[in-house]
Amino acid sequence: MSSLRAADRDRDVVLMCEVADETTYVPHHRQKIVFLLSAMRHFAEALRADGWTVDYVRLDDPANTGSFTGEVGRALARHGADRLLVTEAGEWRVKAMIDGWAARFGTEVQVLPDRRFVCPLPAFEDWARDRKSLRMEYFYREMRRKTGLLMDGDKPAGGRWNFDAENRKPLTDDLFLPERRRFAPDAVTQEVIDLIAARFPEGFGDLEGFGWAVTRADAEAAFEEFLGRALARFGDHQDAMLAGRPFLYHGLISAYLNVGLLDALDVCRRVEAEWRAGRVPLNAAEGFIRQIIGWREYVRGIYWLKMPGYRDENALGATRPLPWFYWSGDTDMACMAEAIGQTRRHAYAHHIQRLMVTGTFALLAGIDPKALHEWYLAVYIDAFEWVELPNTLGMSQFADGGLLGSKPYAASGAYIDRMSDYCAGCRYDVTEKTGAIACPFNALYWDFLARNADRLRGNPRLGTVYATWDRMAEGKRDALRESAGAFLDRLDRDDAGPARSPPSQAG
Ligand SMILES: Cc1cc2nc3c(=O)[nH]c(=O)nc-3n(C[C@H](O)[C@H](O)[C@H](O)COP(=O)(O)OP(=O)(O)OC[C@H]3O[C@@H](n4cnc5c(N)ncnc54)[C@H](O)[C@@H]3O)c2cc1C
Ligand code: SF4
Repeated sequence: MSSLRAADRDRDVVLMCEVADETTYVPHHRQKIVFLLSAMRHFAEALRADGWTVDYVRLDDPANTGSFTGEVGRALARHGADRLLVTEAGEWRVKAMIDGWAARFGTEVQVLPDRRFVCPLPAFEDWARDRKSLRMEYFYREMRRKTGLLMDGDKPAGGRWNFDAENRKPLTDDLFLPERRRFAPDAVTQEVIDLIAARFPEGFGDLEGFGWAVTRADAEAAFEEFLGRALARFGDHQDAMLAGRPFLYHGLISAYLNVGLLDALDVCRRVEAEWRAGRVPLNAAEGFIRQIIGWREYVRGIYWLKMPGYRDENALGATRPLPWFYWSGDTDMACMAEAIGQTRRHAYAHHIQRLMVTGTFALLAGIDPKALHEWYLAVYIDAFEWVELPNTLGMSQFADGGLLGSKPYAASGAYIDRMSDYCAGCRYDVTEKTGAIACPFNALYWDFLARNADRLRGNPRLGTVYATWDRMAEGKRDALRESAGAFLDRLDRDDAGPARSPPSQAG
């Protein structure tokens, strides 16, 4: 971290604080809080062992004021410090706090760039300036050239920039799917688990089965295991989903990257080395590297370019409250129950589950994008606003009017049926379009297109679907819209009962 790099081990004090406000601004999954606090406690010990003076304020310290600003103020007084070094924030909300510190405390505050990313923010702004339209693919190519990753001279390795078309194969459950390594809690983690269990007994998400790495060494071990056992098939089955198999061939490293237990450029170089050594195919290495130097860096750039207004965008005017089953997992749609159930158990769902199951349902049902954003920000182990907000509001909900994606990720049940085994175990029939046993995604899909025709009909990528809608017999169109309307009415009715508010995070 740049603040540590700039600090002097013999003179400076490292302040680390666990503050209540950060555990409650959305009802975070309890595993997410445990992961963060335990990783902080382990890191503090590593710093002390390395000769640093660490001032560590615990969540249950009676003097803890519960906010970053309160704890910084107390620490400045405690140490008689006249200068504060801090790495730039990952969320707008926290940046606003930091921006106020110099005036509030009458202290010099030096904010240093976060060097845990490959593309510095000023470089992203330069790239975005004067472009008529921003597209991840062009940014990604620039990042390939800049980093030299998967480049043969000035040409992309294998003659193509993007092998996504090869990365959409479904998957059948078999005995050879790798069991992914989980890390049993040590004494430090167990202490945090007990603290969080006592503090948030009604909080969202299971605490049992916590298996995330909380040290750099274990995060490295997790990544090594991914390289050796999963990466080779990551590409082929990147979009596949299987009931009871939450992790498949995914990296499970987003949380480690986001908090700095792993380094983004380093993991990409190691993935490239696997391909150059002939141990994994190019579509796997390219698919993985694109997610990191492409999407991950791109959404961060967009976040800082567009905030603070971005958070309030709602281009499709969606207003339905978030259905209760997003918290409870209590729904008879097998795909939604599976994605939400594993989210409750592991604070994890892979990209396609987030985008094409919980995300697509919300899009089709017209759920308020801000309510959905707060859900995604709460429930995933890797969720921080700089990465979660553009993915949710932009990519998944089209609420930014097409800045992040050129068309909405709307799909009927056929997509989920093609990419998963969920439909076989569902009470709904994915082949039925209307009526009580028809897959709800089917009628909702057409209803979404019809409802938003004024806004979306002109989108060139939707020309064919609108042509199909226009050709449909009027009776069929009416039946689809009635079926969708009946489903949405039922949803609203079910949610009108008592005990339908998000889990309590009141400490
Ligand atoms: C609605 C929605 C919300 C999301 N919220 C978050 C979030 O809060 N935090 C987060 O880190 N990712 C988020 N993502 C992106 C992606 O789903 C996760 O990064 C990924 O599922 C993490 O699992 P993994 O490490 O096994 O990833 P893998 O599938 O193994 O991918 C490798 C890495 O690529 C990066 N990556 C992949 N896709 C994206 C993406 N679209 N944006 C940014 N990085 C990406 C991640 O760092 C990930 O670890 C979201 C996606 C959607 C559709
Ligand atoms: S039938 Fe529809 S609701 Fe059921 S699992 Fe398939 S896509 Fe989901």
